[in-house]
This record gives sequence, C-alpha cells and structure tokens, in this order.
Amino acid sequence: MAGEFAVHAGSMFDGFTRSGPATVHVRGGRITAVDRTGSRPSDRYVVDLGADACLLPGLIDTHTHLAFDSGNDPVASFVAADDERMLTGMRAAARTALLAGITTVRDLGARDFLALTVAEETLRTPEAGPEILAAGPPITTFGGHCHFMNGEAEGRGQLIDAVRERHDRGCAVVKIMASGGQMTRGSRAYLSQYGQEDLRIVADEAHRLGLPVAAHAHGNEAITDALAAGVDTLEHVSFSGEKGIDEDAALVERLAGSGAFLSLTLGTRGTLPLEVRQHLEPRLDSRRKVHRELVRLGGRVVVGTDAGIFPSKPHDVLPHSVEELRNLGLPPAASLAAMTSQAAIACGVEGRKGRISAGADADFVVVGGDPLRDPASLLDVRAVFRAGVRVR
Ligand SMILES: [Zn+2]
Repeated sequence: MAGEFAVHAGSMFDGFTRSGPATVHVRGGRITAVDRTGSRPSDRYVVDLGADACLLPGLIDTHTHLAFDSGNDPVASFVAADDERMLTGMRAAARTALLAGITTVRDLGARDFLALTVAEETLRTPEAGPEILAAGPPITTFGGHCHFMNGEAEGRGQLIDAVRERHDRGCAVVKIMASGGQMTRGSRAYLSQYGQEDLRIVADEAHRLGLPVAAHAHGNEAITDALAAGVDTLEHVSFSGEKGIDEDAALVERLAGSGAFLSLTLGTRGTLPLEVRQHLEPRLDSRRKVHRELVRLGGRVVVGTDAGIFPSKPHDVLPHSVEELRNLGLPPAASLAAMTSQAAIACGVEGRKGRISAGADADFVVVGGDPLRDPASLLDVRAVFRAGVRVR
C-alpha cells in the first residue's frame, strides 16, 4: 500500500473548493497528480471508494494535549502518571485522532519533551498516529498555568534559553502561556502572566530560528499583548474578564484585521462537567457573539479543540466542531478549510498538509455523503490514509 496507487471518489474537497469525481495518484507517501476529469483509471492499483464518497485532506487540529486523558480530572491523572504511563496514553490518544481522519495535530503541551518521542514514532510509522507538531512544555511563569509540564521561565535570559532549547530539540512550535488558565489551581484565566516585552522576546527569538509561536491568551490584556508581540496563533481568544466576557469592539476589529490566526477552542461531544458548565455557560453566549463578530470582520479562524482536557473532548473530537464553525457564520467550504488548508498555514506546514494537490503529503480522509451540505457526514469515515498508507 505504501508504494504507488490511486484513490478515486465521487467528489472531492481539496482544502479550498469542492469538485466532482476525482482520482488522486500517490507515490512514496506523496500526491503525484490529481485528475478531476471524472475518468476512472482501470488498473488494479485504484482504490475506488464509491460514487457517494467524498475525498478530503486529512484534518488538522491546531491545539491538542495528547497527555491529557479526557477523564474527569485530567490534571490529577497527568501528575500521577510516570513517563511510561503517560507515553502509553499519548500513543493511544494519537491513534484515536488518526482513525477519525485527523492526520496532523499540534501538541501544545505535555510533560517535558515526551510529545517529541511520540512525534518521532508516528513519523516512522504512519499507522501509529497523526504527524505531531510538538511544542514541548509550554513556556510559563513559576507556578503559572500548566507549570507541572516543566516549562517555567521568566526574564529575558531564561525566555531566550527556553526558545533555543525547544528549537534544538526539534520542536515544531513554541507555546507560551500569555495568560493564566482554568485548569491550574491558583491561576486566573483573565490575568496576564507575561508582559508585552516578554512575549516579544519569545516571538522574536522563535522567528529568528524559524519557529512559529502559539500564545495561550484568555484575557483581553494578554490577547492585546500577544497580538502586538507578533505571535502566529492566538489560542482560545476567549475575552475572559473577572466576571464575564469583556467585549471590546476595537480589539475585535484589530484582531480580525491583523492576519494572525485565531485558534478557537471548539469541539464538544456530549456535555461538559457540571462545575465547568456552571462557570462557562453564562459566558458562552457572549463569547459566541464576540467570535461571530471576529468571523464577520474576516478574522482568520482555525480550530484547536484542546482535546484531552474534558470527557467531552476526546482526541477525535475535531470533526464535531464543524457545526459550531458554521454557527459562527463561516460558510461550509470555509468551515472545512479552517481545519485543512487554513490550519496548515497557521501551523507552518502549508503546501505539505491540508490540501489535495501534487507535491502534498498523501494524507486523506474519505467520508460518506457531502460534508459541505451535512456536517455529520465527516463522522461517516470510510477510509483514512496517512503518508500514503491506508490506516483505516
Ligand atoms: Zn490547551
């Protein structure tokens, strides 16, 4: 299967637009040609997935935590697990994502550099999981949000060293906790952890080394500072205030016009835990309103599910977020682009991922029906290919 073959389906979404019957030719893990003429090659190397099947690029989740187990207390399980147990969980999470058609994930935080171990495994063995773009431990303040991942650094010298270490070890992205977060005891999501100057030091050093920066930013001050510092993706962008959502029309306008990618935390299967619902639900409507405005003004939206942090966020939750994207006002094709071609640009893997075109990696998902008309069709997975290997 890893050699030379072609995949044929009744329709295709290539990451940008939909077309009719298509045949995609693959060799050595890459796409060599895309035939949209509708003719179906008759040789025995064609995998014909049927007239009612739609071929899409493998999906990209811009924000996951393979080391969180989607349990009732993922932080407690995380802290209790030794490295071997954590790796076992991460491998299972990677496999779960892959079988749902998610062929690339950004791991934005696990303990130390364990995500790099799993990333190497899935690079060697496509069946093992998606391609993993790993951040290593998120850079955070001492005792700050997700400090238990061991990425604490403060002050110019430590921040620069932290970025260089991630580059030297082979991370694909630098993650920094610009604000606090809900999951860490004592941390406040609406408060900033770093100032604009700190964020700029990290962004400049990462960019000098060719790495993109993802900034976790809940509060308006952290969002403002991360944007000014020139980070590549803003994670969550929840406009969290002390008492609710701090709507700020001028900031929304700046964000939408900035060209920075806004990695919205979407994707839910089932219901959230009670204490999370009590905290979140009063805020959800106003947050949705702000996000709808971001979309209306042309903000570059991608989806980071934060998979692993709740039971309602298993590692294959990404396809469940299409409906939410559409409710935010994204048209059907743009909703699919947000988790394919746009996500690839956001993660710095444009050209190679998130598209079906000659030269790109042979990562596809084949679903039944028409995902542009019916978001649920993304859940009817008929086949998944990664690096030219059929894994489902
Ligand atoms: Zn996260």
